[in-house]
Amino acid sequence: MTAHHPSTVSVEVLIVGAGPIGLETAAVLRGEGRDVLVVDAGSIGSTIERTFPPETRFFTSPERLAIRGWPVTSPTQEKATGEEYLAFLRAFATGAGLAVRTFSRVVGVSGQQGDFTVKIAALGGEEYFIHTQVLVLASGGMDTPRRLGVPGEDLPHVRSHLGDPHRYFGRTVAVVGGRNSAVEAALRLYRVGAHVHLIHREPELYTRVKPWIKPDMESLLAEGQIVGHLPAAIVQIGPGGVELRDLADDSGTQWISVDDVLLQIGFEQDSELFDLAGIELTGPQRAPHVDTATLRSNVPGIYVVGTAIAGTQSGFKVFIENSHQHADQVAAALAGRPAPNPVPARPLPES
Ligand SMILES: Cc1cc2nc3c(=O)[nH]c(=O)nc-3n(C[C@H](O)[C@H](O)[C@H](O)COP(=O)(O)OP(=O)(O)OC[C@H]3O[C@@H](n4cnc5c(N)ncnc54)[C@H](O)[C@@H]3O)c2cc1C
Repeated sequence: MTAHHPSTVSVEVLIVGAGPIGLETAAVLRGEGRDVLVVDAGSIGSTIERTFPPETRFFTSPERLAIRGWPVTSPTQEKATGEEYLAFLRAFATGAGLAVRTFSRVVGVSGQQGDFTVKIAALGGEEYFIHTQVLVLASGGMDTPRRLGVPGEDLPHVRSHLGDPHRYFGRTVAVVGGRNSAVEAALRLYRVGAHVHLIHREPELYTRVKPWIKPDMESLLAEGQIVGHLPAAIVQIGPGGVELRDLADDSGTQWISVDDVLLQIGFEQDSELFDLAGIELTGPQRAPHVDTATLRSNVPGIYVVGTAIAGTQSGFKVFIENSHQHADQVAAALAGRPAPNPVPARPLPES
């Protein structure tokens, strides 16, 4: 890691994003003798640092989170927590000898293949430029929590990150959503002594809610220990409560009193970096346009890897375990080798 940032830097490959796949791509390219620098707007693994509540376990098993044979281990042999995986990423970055600049956001891209100039804004206010021949965008897709778009969403008791469940002890909380994050949050809040309402716009929980938490939730809903409002939508949020519309029939709206509203309805990708780099966005997910074999974008010399390739996902299909191969695809493209054979999908993804 470099403590002092000179006003201009030159590298062969600049990777934007120090998440698992940015770091993996850096290690593979470094292993091929390339001069690689990784920059991240936040910490290493900042998506995990920002979005995982404390002691939250991955759904993916450790061997599928492992990078290039570096094992993800834990004292319990259970699925890794966010904290354990961040420790793993720190060890991996150090062990693989990666050059990483954290809290360094890319705010400008100019030039062309072989000679890009990338403007960096560091946390302390310093701005400087990095010259690079190749740019790899590993910038993820979970930048901004999705919003409902209803009145009252900006009130101070409305949040999108669970944080430490402890703060909700003794409070009445509306958890909005019906996928894994919502179900996990509702269970944790119930178990810290909150009175929980689960509000979901579908009649059932998402079919891919993990089998080790779904029965727990369904049982608590059936007993009324967690009050389910399915299918229902929030019409507005006010001080002290929310107005709900029952989507099963035309029975109108009802007001329920709650102290807090926790939105667990997913995330959206911030397309600013793609706009800066001139990358075309396609389809309803506004995914960056890439060649699927090489991951080269419509801008020669700029590649996109990791979950960033999928745009804003609803129902995750691109995650860590099926992005490891992206590093090999970019390495092959840069070396002029044929694209590696696609890795077959696992029978039970994200297990
Ligand atoms: C509760 C929870 C559970 C999850 N469980 C799983 C799971 O079981 N399995 C799984 O695969 N995934 C899981 N995820 C999602 C997981 O976090 C992502 O799949 C993973 O982080 C994606 O890795 P990535 O390297 O593609 O991108 P990210 O980890 O998102 O990294 C992107 C990085 O790019 C940086 N960046 C973006 N723009 C800029 C810029 N302009 N300048 C500089 N840096 C920039 C960001 O700061 C970020 O650090 C979970 C998420 C949550 C919230």
